[in-house]
Amino acid sequence: MNIFETLYNEFIGFFGIGGIIEMVKKNDYSSLTTWAGIQNLIYPIIPLLLLIEVVRAIVYKRFKIEDYKLSFMVFVLNRFISRFISIAAVGFCIGLFEQWAIFKTDITWYWLLYGYVIWEFAHFVYHFLAHKVRILWCLHSTHHAPQQMNLFVNFAHFFLEAPYADVIRTSICIILGVSPPLLFLIMFIDGLWGSFIHVGENIIKNGRLGFLGKFLLTPSHHRVHHARNPLYMDTNFCNLLNIWDKVFKTYQDEKSEIKIEYGITRKINQNNILDAYFGEIVCLWKDIVKAPGIKNKLLYIIMPPGWSHTGHHQTAKIARTGYLSEQDKNVKNDEGSADQLQPGQSFS
Ligand SMILES: [Zn+2]
Ligand SMILES: [Zn+2]
Repeated sequence: MNIFETLYNEFIGFFGIGGIIEMVKKNDYSSLTTWAGIQNLIYPIIPLLLLIEVVRAIVYKRFKIEDYKLSFMVFVLNRFISRFISIAAVGFCIGLFEQWAIFKTDITWYWLLYGYVIWEFAHFVYHFLAHKVRILWCLHSTHHAPQQMNLFVNFAHFFLEAPYADVIRTSICIILGVSPPLLFLIMFIDGLWGSFIHVGENIIKNGRLGFLGKFLLTPSHHRVHHARNPLYMDTNFCNLLNIWDKVFKTYQDEKSEIKIEYGITRKINQNNILDAYFGEIVCLWKDIVKAPGIKNKLLYIIMPPGWSHTGHHQTAKIARTGYLSEQDKNVKNDEGSADQLQPGQSFS
């Protein structure tokens, strides 16, 4: 295969337009009445939105190569490794756990609803642990490294993260009765929505999506999730339905008065892919080396990022609780000073 053929295939693969080209070549559109045919039409939507986003940014002179560079480099690296391990992991978990399924489900609207709630729970478990267990954060932090939000952030993942996520999600779903065909349908919807919620402010400025935001996890919610502001850290772990964030009290709305600052709290070199990819692993290794005793060393691996053997923890939970209690104090002070106002006085 020559270089042009390889590039052509990469281009077709990235934009997901292979199916459409096939249809046009054969002049046979009958497959559009099938699910596979419809998928062929849906696949290119996200890459197309990404293209529009970049073109708009260029036209409005807002395009900065740094906004895309890191995610793009990680995408290229993952393209060849992650996909194959992930497919194998899903297949393995299905084979292993199908016999333990508590019951069997079909593809009907009510089982789809059931399956989605279960999938969303499994996604919550994977994502929550990815933020709360230091070794798993090492895999997930690559996705949080970019300091801008755009559709390319979809592709910024450590290559072992997808297999880890798929093992957790597939195992939970299969055991709780979600049949493989239903699981694949859900994965498809989840993949599309999961990409869409990374849409940048260049395309959709206000990502709240009106009343839909009451039960859906919107781009606005996910922007909050990618923020390093103390109020926003470690919130909104869901992907399409925001139910489990509400159940487990990790739900957080975007506040118009608090501008989102994207990225992680550690200072990171946006031009250095190695820092985004391995930076957290290096930090963890340094902590393990300097920790006294085997118990402390092991605790660094499983405790949340920011945990310290000295007791001076700097976890996201502490930062958020500190921020909220500070806010509480300010409100009480305001109320206190309002109580002391005499009739006729005003305050603004
Ligand atoms: Zn995350
Ligand atoms: Zn994300």
